Amino acid sequence: MGGQLGKVQTVLGLVEPKQLGFTQTHEHVLVNLLPEPLRKEYVGEPITLENVGYLRRNWLNNPHNLSLTSEADAIDELKRYKSSGGGAIVEMTPIGTARDPEALARVSLAAGVHVVMGTSFYNAAFHPAEIQNLSEEGIARIFVRDIMDGADGAGVRAGIVGEIGLDWPLYESETRVLRAGALAQADTGAALNIHPGRAPEAPLDAIRIVKEAGGNPERTVMSHVERTLFNLDEMLRLAETGCYLEFDLFGQEWSYYPLSDIDMPNDATRVDYLIGLIGHGYKDKLLVSQDICHKTQLARYGGDGYSHILDNVLPIMRRKGMSNEDIEAVTVRNPAKMLTFV
Ligand SMILES: [Zn+2]
Repeated sequence: MGGQLGKVQTVLGLVEPKQLGFTQTHEHVLVNLLPEPLRKEYVGEPITLENVGYLRRNWLNNPHNLSLTSEADAIDELKRYKSSGGGAIVEMTPIGTARDPEALARVSLAAGVHVVMGTSFYNAAFHPAEIQNLSEEGIARIFVRDIMDGADGAGVRAGIVGEIGLDWPLYESETRVLRAGALAQADTGAALNIHPGRAPEAPLDAIRIVKEAGGNPERTVMSHVERTLFNLDEMLRLAETGCYLEFDLFGQEWSYYPLSDIDMPNDATRVDYLIGLIGHGYKDKLLVSQDICHKTQLARYGGDGYSHILDNVLPIMRRKGMSNEDIEAVTVRNPAKMLTFV
């Protein structure tokens, strides 16, 4: 080990878990959601007051909206998060979607917010060509190197494996990447974050694969629970595996979801699910975030910014009866525990 045991590894180095404070465990600060081959040919209109309403709803329909590449914007937005009480964020941008370790370190330093970077590959459409020729051990070596030695030769180290992108049904290469993630988790003691396919059976199937590969479900975070499972019983079945359930689409307040034909719940319904799971004893396995990944979610482009949970959701949690201790667990204690190397 490189001294990570018992610590959290940020892009600026190791910190004590207690230093993190309020933490959103699934965000993107610098990312490009257009697959590489499309970036040159897919050109759209710049974002204006005339089209921002359309784009907030149909956020996929403009390439400008799908890239967060301005460090200055990122610093501004994270400063807003900090002034609302934010202490840390987990930056889940996979390799191949414009992850930029050195820029993340600069942004973290300038904004005064702890940033924990992930190491992963997203779903098959984003897999770099090299993945096709790598064994699961070969892929795991990339993840372990990012955590132990630093990513892209820059010395900036990842602090978590994820988000590992999966489709439903899984592509063969996605199964290999997920098994590699489980190997890297077992090898380093880091947590593992999974972006499951959009089907109710996908999360349990992913946990099965993690277990078969020697990973630990207790150290695994299932992202995007609320666009994948649609009732408390399904969520309880997932919670029984011991994994973290991450409600990370806070701020998506409309029922429409452009990526699949579902009824997206709103923030109040997300809080109801949290309360239901707390009532069944799973308070210590819940995480919240906003998964910001396009421009119209930023304050600068008319969105809520990273401070939406702090500013707007904590009052909903209190109104619906979550205690201060419940809120502290979900937003401070659980993220710190999850991010601590074991
Ligand atoms: Zn994400």
